[in-house]
Amino acid sequence: ASRFSATPRGPEDAILGITLAYNADQSPHKVNLGVGAYRDDAGLPFVLTPVRIAEKRLAQDEHHMEYLPVIGNRTFCDKAVALAYGQHSGLDMGCVARMQTLSGTGALRMAGELMTRFLSVRNGQAPVVLLPRPSWANHAAIFRDAGCRVGGYRYYDEDTKGLDFEGCLRDLEEAEEGSVVLLHACAHNPTGVDFGESEWGRVSEVVREKGMVALFDMAYQGFTSGDLDVDAEGVRRFVREGHRVILAQSFSKNFGLYGQRVGCLSVVGDSVEEKEAVESQLKIIARPMYSNPPIVGVRLVEEILKDEKLEIMWREEMKGMAERIQGMRKMLREGLEGVGSRLDWGHVEKQNGMFCYSGLTAQQVDRLRREFSVYLTANGRISMAGVTTGNVGYLADAMHRVTK
Ligand code: PLP
Repeated sequence: ASRFSATPRGPEDAILGITLAYNADQSPHKVNLGVGAYRDDAGLPFVLTPVRIAEKRLAQDEHHMEYLPVIGNRTFCDKAVALAYGQHSGLDMGCVARMQTLSGTGALRMAGELMTRFLSVRNGQAPVVLLPRPSWANHAAIFRDAGCRVGGYRYYDEDTKGLDFEGCLRDLEEAEEGSVVLLHACAHNPTGVDFGESEWGRVSEVVREKGMVALFDMAYQGFTSGDLDVDAEGVRRFVREGHRVILAQSFSKNFGLYGQRVGCLSVVGDSVEEKEAVESQLKIIARPMYSNPPIVGVRLVEEILKDEKLEIMWREEMKGMAERIQGMRKMLREGLEGVGSRLDWGHVEKQNGMFCYSGLTAQQVDRLRREFSVYLTANGRISMAGVTTGNVGYLADAMHRVTK
């Protein structure tokens, strides 16, 4: 018999499972609101114009297929951290360790591995990473597999469909000294609920008072406001206030480079020696895991960010994606009111980024799927990127029917 004959079959990833079910559905009205990837108003994947231009340039270049260094493409990393921290952060970039990663997921995993090895924790236990409740479903698995302990803090208030800031502060104040707090930089997944200016200020204070480490996950820079600088304000504020942050950046969404796996991990330190030590350890972690990162996606980003015209074009198209989503939020709310729903759907419009935490129950989500071929995760999260002028009326009507 095979040595693996006793291997139990594991569960399907919830989100990927939705796409499988959607693909098998024959209904002409079917709507996929599961995946967190941008779609245009025709419901199609969208490749940004500057990405297409950069691709053509690369194709004409005699670019090689050699290995990148383990740490990745340096020029890309420099551009990536400049986008996040800003040109005028006052940060001494010589003290910021950085590495090209397998997108945001890879950056978080590398951060987790680095923390379990080198974050000084008092009691010899693994570092604890506190995740907002709820958070992106993959976070807990990433940090657990990296050897961290995983905890949480209150974040979302079911009743107001907004922030539970009192609960959040209380949980952070009572957290273990030296904990790592994972903060979604903007466009929180899955809730679409972000900290405002005053809340960032308070969280920054508590993180300092408790000697905690801020680990930012920035997977949607640009998707809250349409402006990359505005969306980085939480991170930049922490840096201005002296925090030595860890930052995981993904360029999957804002460059539409999902399958290219373009990301960057940066770790703010105190000295050039510390930066070099951290980078040396990141290389030691990556070498036996995947050896070196892919070359193409980062070259596309590098090409765009090196050329002012392409960068402007990118910022514009990025803003266009954010605005289309915002427009769909408004149409969905109005559509629900238009078909006579008496419920308050204000949160659909108020929440930020790619997702709407609708408040639909698991049973209502199930009815949407069975009766209307509308697919979303059981927690009621709607990927707004899947909503179009063509399906928003159908969706509003379906949502009304399962909630009245
Ligand atoms: N972090 C959050 C909150 C996300 O929603 C995602 C993707 O859905 C990621 C990180 C990582 O995505 P990727 O690995 O494609 O960059």
